[in-house]
Amino acid sequence: MSELETLAAEVAKCTRCLLHRGRTRSVPGEGPGDAGIMFIGEAPGFHEDQQGRPFVGAAGKFLEELLEGIGLKREDVFITNVIKCRPPGNRDPLPEEIEACKPYLDRQIELLQPELVVTLGRFSMARAFPKARISRIHGQPRKVGGVIYYPMYHPAAALHQPSLRRTVAEDMQRIPELIEQAAQIAETPLPPEAEQLRLF
Ligand code: URA
Repeated sequence: MSELETLAAEVAKCTRCLLHRGRTRSVPGEGPGDAGIMFIGEAPGFHEDQQGRPFVGAAGKFLEELLEGIGLKREDVFITNVIKCRPPGNRDPLPEEIEACKPYLDRQIELLQPELVVTLGRFSMARAFPKARISRIHGQPRKVGGVIYYPMYHPAAALHQPSLRRTVAEDMQRIPELIEQAAQIAETPLPPEAEQLRLF
């Protein structure tokens, strides 16, 4: 068993927060252990909870289309979420749920050592870009500890707000260029309030 698989097995029986009581299955995330790109969404929804896999509903279909637009398949990247169990009624994750699940995401990033971490939506964005507004910073990469963090709108936001579709597609289109120019992107220090997020 790889360390990522061991971690997934731990997530499957996790009881660190109350969300475990309502889940059908936890959703650790999936993808190759040597994926250079990692996508981090928010939380599992109905279909993800049923199947134990991330981004398998409508937002996932759109994410797959976006990936296809840059010549990638979902199997080429690692996909996970900030929290690994579905919140009731798909409500926003609570701070204590994010905190309880944080060690799992930290460890996934540590094990994968991706070149690029794409944050989808404001909850994953908040880890690398604290207090930022997604409308201001989407599509603007930042390198911290040798890893490029790239904030994008959540694909579900574009499904609810069609005017965002083009923005999301354009931000996605920049990914190949970002990877090509990774070495030239300057390192930017994290603000003090984010120091504890160094691992991310
Ligand atoms: N939305 C997310 O943020 N994650 C999923 O896995 C599915 C939908």
